[in-house]
Amino acid sequence: MDAEITVLPLLQMASGDPLLLQQYRFIGAHSGKVVYLQANLHGAEIAGNSVIHRLLTYLNTLAETALHGEIRLVPACNPIGVNTRAHNFASGRFNPYDGYDWNRIFWDWEQEHHGAKAFAKKHLESDRATIQQTYRQFIWQHFEAELDALKSPMGVPVHQRYRTGLQQLALDADIVIDLHSSSNQGLVYTYYFRDRAPSIPYFDLDFAILLDQFDGNAFDEAFINPWLELEKAFAALGRSLRFDVEAWTLELGTGMKMDAQAIERGVNGILNYLRQQQVLQDGEAIFHHSVPLTRASQLTKYYATAGGFVQRRVAIGTWVQSGEMLYELLCLNKTGQLPHTITVTAQQAGLVYDLSTSEAVSEGEYVLGVMVPDE
Ligand SMILES: [Zn+2]
Repeated sequence: MDAEITVLPLLQMASGDPLLLQQYRFIGAHSGKVVYLQANLHGAEIAGNSVIHRLLTYLNTLAETALHGEIRLVPACNPIGVNTRAHNFASGRFNPYDGYDWNRIFWDWEQEHHGAKAFAKKHLESDRATIQQTYRQFIWQHFEAELDALKSPMGVPVHQRYRTGLQQLALDADIVIDLHSSSNQGLVYTYYFRDRAPSIPYFDLDFAILLDQFDGNAFDEAFINPWLELEKAFAALGRSLRFDVEAWTLELGTGMKMDAQAIERGVNGILNYLRQQQVLQDGEAIFHHSVPLTRASQLTKYYATAGGFVQRRVAIGTWVQSGEMLYELLCLNKTGQLPHTITVTAQQAGLVYDLSTSEAVSEGEYVLGVMVPDE
């Protein structure tokens, strides 16, 4: 099967050069779900580009009859972020124009219009498929105002031009998979949303984090929040509904690295998940394995309690008990004394899932993350 390839203009740089997105679209012989995948929204998080390349290669060999629905793939989905550097380091996590995190800028219909409650009331008696279709159209109608704003003679800021350009590719999807990595050193895991846990074992992950408190306007959140709020609104009216809409942010290993193992696990997990979702009908989905679950509110981060140098730090992927050493800080001084060390211990038991790339830290700088699993 060949991809339909579309090149989409994002914005034009002062030098006259255009910034573009390229989308690969595979349309199956049978109808089914629309799946949208993108990679490299944060500049340092490059592994997903290889995952997309491998998926492209796989889909090229697949018969159209084995694809039910549509798969859209967008590598290097943030050209500004991908190309940002400080010395040799990819520092493209934040928009250099306004300082915003590139993954906290997206348009969330429910947050803008608070319309889920009224919609649920109006469609209380409709069947699920009709509600899903009508709600999607409703969201799209409002999004047209965002598209119109791009043509305004007053113009719009960079982040708005960018987010609208990107979101128009994903807004009508059933499944969104946003491929990230740690900006530092990280494991392979996913963020997930309420009532979507049953799909987790089909990915090949170390653990999964429920987004129980919204960070706000991340790509996956902005996509799924209107649906979660609609489910909540129906529940308040006494009707239990779960729409067939899912969003995942997969974290694939270490920033600035094409981590071969994380890429392999990403590709296999995604293909397997798409089989479970009946999008790919080229074999049986395998129930990989259950993984520890946690919640975003249970992630603990350790920040340097003094300026210094991190040494004897535990390896990534270590399970620690409360009171066990996490790392040692070598602290210099300007008080005429010898340097000293501070030992930092785990305040709670958990899995060390993320480590800062730099081992030189000022007081208050990030050192590592520990996830505390659900009971
Ligand atoms: Zn990221």
